[in-house]
Amino acid sequence: MNPLVELRKVVKDYPLGETVFRALRGVDLTVLEGEFLAITGPSGSGKSTLLHLMGALHRPTSGQVLFEGVDLSNLSPHELARLRNLKIGFVFQQFHLLPRITAWENVALPMVYARVRPAERRERAMEALARVGLLEFARHRPNQLSGGQQQRVAIARALVNNPKLLLADEPTGNLDTQSGREIVELFVSLHGEGRTVVIVSHEPEVAFRAKRVVVLRDGVIQEERRGLC
Ligand code: ADP
Repeated sequence: MNPLVELRKVVKDYPLGETVFRALRGVDLTVLEGEFLAITGPSGSGKSTLLHLMGALHRPTSGQVLFEGVDLSNLSPHELARLRNLKIGFVFQQFHLLPRITAWENVALPMVYARVRPAERRERAMEALARVGLLEFARHRPNQLSGGQQQRVAIARALVNNPKLLLADEPTGNLDTQSGREIVELFVSLHGEGRTVVIVSHEPEVAFRAKRVVVLRDGVIQEERRGLC
């Protein structure tokens, strides 16, 4: 399998008063196409920072991040935005749906930025909602949906431009146990369709279902192991 994302000696500092806080301290990590990787570790260990760097949302302080072999430091902000829009799907703990528009309109948003024709947007949004089992809720607004359903809408939105990489940051963190399980199984089945999936989670169930687990501690990879499935 080809490398999809490569992190080489990645350091990330955040300003902290007069000094800096080193959130990542030289991380080397390669995600191969088609992998299902879980990133775990205690709160504050740098998991979200790592995911944001993989998703071209942040730039490293030093070191390199390569996506499909391209060093992201060579891309302009516009090129990075295009890469995120077309090649990367993000899922967050808080769903981040717009409250005043319907489920399908939320799912269609990434296609607005990608300049897809309106008729095609609607069709593809409906397909993505069907994929996550929510077609009959297409015209509901987020506050008419349960937490688990809202997260499914967010996953449909992440899928709608058919990205190479699906990144999820604590996607079950706001859900009850049963809804959380269903969301994890949805990621498992998306991986089964050949998608590359990286999930940050401190929930053991997520790590159990991933093929490979990376454990972060204090900004470094402490351990790497095969998942249990
Ligand atoms: P995790 O996802 O494992 O909880 P994070 O990547 O969110 O860890 O954060 C790692 C460390 O970096 C934490 O100590 C956090 O306080 C700090 N940090 C994260 N984002 C910022 C920021 N924007 N500014 C300053 N410090 C930050």
